[in-house]
Amino acid sequence: MVKNYTAILMYDQEHLWHPYTSMNSPLPSYLVEHADGVYLHLASGEKVIDGMSSWWSVVHGYNHPVLNAAMKAQIDKFSHVMFGGLTHTPAIELAEKLISLTPQGLNKVFLADSGSVAVEVAIKMAIQYQHSKRKLNKNKMLTIKNGYHGDTFAAMSVCDPVNGMHQLFSGFITENFFADAPQIGFDQQWHEADLDSLKQQFSDNHHHIAALILEPIVQGAGGMRFYHPEFLKACRTLCDQYDVLLIADEIATGFGRSGKLFACEHADISPDILCLGKALTGGYLTLAATLCTDHVATTISEGEAGVFMHGPTFMGNPLACAAANASLDLLIENDWKNQVSNIESQLNAELLPLSKHDNVANVRVLGAIGVIEAKYPVNMAIIQQKFVELGVWIRPFGKLIYIMPPFVINNTELTKLTSAIAEVVQCAEVFNK
Ligand SMILES: *Cc1c(COP(=O)(O)O)cnc(C)c1O
Repeated sequence: MVKNYTAILMYDQEHLWHPYTSMNSPLPSYLVEHADGVYLHLASGEKVIDGMSSWWSVVHGYNHPVLNAAMKAQIDKFSHVMFGGLTHTPAIELAEKLISLTPQGLNKVFLADSGSVAVEVAIKMAIQYQHSKRKLNKNKMLTIKNGYHGDTFAAMSVCDPVNGMHQLFSGFITENFFADAPQIGFDQQWHEADLDSLKQQFSDNHHHIAALILEPIVQGAGGMRFYHPEFLKACRTLCDQYDVLLIADEIATGFGRSGKLFACEHADISPDILCLGKALTGGYLTLAATLCTDHVATTISEGEAGVFMHGPTFMGNPLACAAANASLDLLIENDWKNQVSNIESQLNAELLPLSKHDNVANVRVLGAIGVIEAKYPVNMAIIQQKFVELGVWIRPFGKLIYIMPPFVINNTELTKLTSAIAEVVQCAEVFNK
C-alpha cells in the first residue's frame, strides 16, 4: 500500500479516473484528510472553505453531528435491505416529507440511486405514460439547449448537444428535439419572443413528444444561466395544450438553492414529474427521487406492462433515506429561507461590483448561487492552485467562476470566497486569452 502523501497522489493520477479527466495528462488532485463545517482540511496542511458545497449537495456543511447521529442510529438497525417485497420506515418517512414539501399534486415517489438515474426514471415514466394512452409515436423528449441532466445515455441525450459532444456517440445516443435556450434573464424585461423556438418545436413535433424536460429557472452545469419565470409558466401551458408531460429536473435547484424551496415555485407551476437529488441527503450519500402525479402513476399502471419497469438493487437505501430525513428536518430547523436570503444579499453586494472589471463579461446572483462569467476561459491548473493558496475551494469550468456555498456559511467565510474571486479575476495568468 502507498505510504506518504506524494506517493498517494501519484497513485491517484496513475490509476483513478476523476470526473471528466484525461488519463494521459491528468491535473493534480488535492488530498482531503478531513472535513468539518464549511472547511475541507487538506493533507498538505491547508484548510479551504468549500464554495461548491461538493457540487450543490453539502448544504449543512461537513461532519454534521445531527446527520452523523442519524446515520449511526440507522447503521445499528440495518444499512440495507432489498426494496422488492420489503419496506422500511426511513423510506416511508422520506416519501411523506417529499410529498408534503414539493409542489402540489406530486404524490408518488420513486427512490433512485443518483441524479442521472432519477432522470432515466423520469424519461421512462413519460414514455410508458404515452404508451399506456396508445400514443405510440410520442416517444421522444423535447428540451432546451444549454441543459444538463446527467451522464447516462438517456440523460445525456437531453443535455446540450454541443457541450455534451453528442457527435462522439452518434449512432448510439437517442436523438431528441431541442429548442433554443431562453435568452431573457431572471429579472430582465419579459418578451414573448423568447418562446418562439419552443412554440415552433411544439407545433411541428408534438405528435412525437412524450415530455418536455428542463431545469426550472437555473440551467446549471450547461452554463449557469438564470431565465425568466414567464418562460417556465409558458412551458406548463404549452405542455397542457399539446398533451406533453412536463418533467422538472430540480436535482441542482431543489431544497432552497434558488431562493425558493423548489425553483418551480418562482413560476407558481407544478410539473407532472419532478427529479430530485444532490442536496437531498445533505451531501452525505448518493440518493435521488423521481416524483409524479397520481394521474401519471395510474396511467402507467394501466398500461401493457401493468407495472413501472424499473427497480435498482439499492433502491430506497435505508442509510441514505435516514440521512435525507435528518437533512430535511435540519433545513426547516435552520430556516433555510433566511440562510439563503442572507447569502443572496451578501453575494449581490460583494460580487456585482466585479462586473466593471475588464476580464469579466457578466455577473449574476440568484438565491445562494453566484456566477462570474469571464470573457476568457480559465486555466484550470493555475486558477485552482491560486484559489487553494487563498484558502478557498472553487472549481470553475470554461469561462464560469461560480459558487454555491453551504447554507451554514457565515458572513466572514462568505467574504473570504468573494474576495478570493475578486482577486483572481484581476490576474492575467489565470485566463487563457
Ligand atoms: C448533477 C445533475 C444531474 C445528475 O446527477 P448525478 O447525481 O451526477 O447523476 C442531473 N440533473 C441536474 C440538473 C444536475 O445538476
